Amino acid sequence: MMSFDVVVIGGGHAGAEAARAAARLGCRTGLFTLKRELIAQMSCNPAIGGIAKGHLVREVDALGGLMGEAIDAVGIQFRLLNTSRGPAVWSPRAQADKKLYRRQVQAMLAAEPNLEIVEGEVAGLVMDGAAVAGIRMRDGSEVRAAAVVITSGTFLNGLIHVGDTTYPAGRSGEPAAQLLGESLKLLGLDCGRLKTGTPPRLDGRTIDWTQFEPQPGDAEPTPFSFLTARIEREQVLCYSTFTNERTHQVIRDNLHRSPLYSGQIAGVGPRYCPSVEDKVVKFPAKERHQIFLEPEGLDTHETYVNGLSTSMPADVQEAMIASIPGLEKAVMLRPGYAIEYDFVQPTELRPTLETKKIAGLFLGGQINGTSGYEEAACQGLMAGINAALRVQGRPGFVLSRTEAYIGTLVDDLIARGADEPYRMFTSRAEFRLHLRIDNADRRLTPLGRKLGLVGDERWQLWEAKQRRMETLEKLLATGTRPGDAAPAAQMLKRPEVTLANFEPWIAARLPELAAEQQAADPAGWERKTVETAIKFEGYLAQQRRHMDQLRAAEGKAIPDGFDFTLAGLSREIQEKLGRVRPATLGQAARIPGVTPAAVSLLLVHLELRKAKSKRVSI
Ligand code: FAD
Repeated sequence: MMSFDVVVIGGGHAGAEAARAAARLGCRTGLFTLKRELIAQMSCNPAIGGIAKGHLVREVDALGGLMGEAIDAVGIQFRLLNTSRGPAVWSPRAQADKKLYRRQVQAMLAAEPNLEIVEGEVAGLVMDGAAVAGIRMRDGSEVRAAAVVITSGTFLNGLIHVGDTTYPAGRSGEPAAQLLGESLKLLGLDCGRLKTGTPPRLDGRTIDWTQFEPQPGDAEPTPFSFLTARIEREQVLCYSTFTNERTHQVIRDNLHRSPLYSGQIAGVGPRYCPSVEDKVVKFPAKERHQIFLEPEGLDTHETYVNGLSTSMPADVQEAMIASIPGLEKAVMLRPGYAIEYDFVQPTELRPTLETKKIAGLFLGGQINGTSGYEEAACQGLMAGINAALRVQGRPGFVLSRTEAYIGTLVDDLIARGADEPYRMFTSRAEFRLHLRIDNADRRLTPLGRKLGLVGDERWQLWEAKQRRMETLEKLLATGTRPGDAAPAAQMLKRPEVTLANFEPWIAARLPELAAEQQAADPAGWERKTVETAIKFEGYLAQQRRHMDQLRAAEGKAIPDGFDFTLAGLSREIQEKLGRVRPATLGQAARIPGVTPAAVSLLLVHLELRKAKSKRVSI
């Protein structure tokens, strides 16, 4: 019988990270997926990153994950978003060549000596009492594993809708995972139903590109990975346009044929990424909605119509497209569709992403009610790390809200559950001034190194970078330019002064540092980090105080099996706490509906319990 330390089910964005992390931590890992050649397939938009999602990719990279390196290797257009706002919310985004992205990730996985990829459908889990002991394949064969990570995306009982046509599928052209979906329900995991959608794809040769506004990439592309000094590849153009009154009329005339409005779709869709029919119905006063035309790769004419996600019948989709100037003759290669799928309520999970009910079973990615490649990747990484740590008998690895967007995402999921597909926003991170893209490595790479995920090359680069930044920080804190009344760091706090003003002085004082920085960091990110820390020092200190308060609450652990039916708590709050079973007082406070008074009462009981156990041990 085949046997692994860790089995990962699913070769999507979560599965790829989970499998590589577990293998890199020294576990014999099996990645089981439906189709080998579709590992790391982008089911929807051909892009990685975007606002807040770019933060997640940076953090995955800083910990030693693969997504940042993969997109840097094959991205075809890079843009840094939100640059008109403060550095806390800058976020990188890149168009990907879909095929090359898959190949890149597949090559990275193939290079892992501890990782074996197996093609096949997993039908269920093999149990040993309340712990997972392996997986069962569709043909009945069994594979043993000490820990299992499920990252099955939209495949669990997936059902595709195009107009009134519905059929079971995991995504376009691939079968649904019905057996696995049913087996998870039988194990008593609380499952729900969600929905997402994708737009039609067009043949670029039939588009009149002269009718659209070109969207170039940045002149100096911002890489995702801290290992990439510069991206030299030539970049492609994207294009933008708008829907119009005719498009909206086509939609209104055919609403009765929309599975969203006929009641055919029961799952809840993403509020922030609605279908075009939803946009037209919900914002009737809006005369137009923006659309981006994005290439799916360098050697394909397939074009993604970002903003036109729809599950209307194919003939209606064709009429919608033809109503847009420049697309009158566009040939639709594939219609858009909606997909409904089962997910597991993430309140079933511990902070390590292990299920509370089944020891050794971890879940990551869209199965946990999230949406998006980046959200999937970071959970896959955390689930893979924790599965490996469990097998090795090491303590779990949890990031808090004060340390990372990843920590914020996991905490949101496990404390609140998902009543719609969850995606990351910068507004979800209350400590976003600290959790920036430029300092993700400063925050997280030492943790990745301690785990064993960060190799020597990345670590040496990191150490050299920290040395350079510390040298610069010291000079700015203590050195004063001729003619200035105060040290450079003081001068920099003035709004009109920037680090660029100090360049000649820095170059004269530290010529070696200037040359080294120019070679290692041509875009000047190291200097931006140093400058931001100085300019925002007051706000950062204020936020640090809030972070300390949160850490104190997080430090109050709630023991496993704690009885939440406390006198003084309403039945509703007792039920909420009993369902989520928060691991800390801080987490309890973030459960919607749990009041500050309830948290105080919980604290009193925890303290009493502690005092009692101390007396007993005396
Ligand atoms: P996936 O990338 O879906 O990978 C799942 C993997 O599991 C696949 O490799 C599959 O083969 C494997 N698998 C499943 N079941 C089994 C089994 N029983 N045995 C073996 N292998 C199995 N995200 C956005 O951010 N915005 C969007 O607008 C958006 N629209 C989407 C539209 C559609 C139609 C779809 C399908 C997805 C959309 N997404 C969107 C979501 C995005 O694609 C996912 O969030 C992301 O890919 C999830 O990653 P994952 O690793 O969890 O799962």
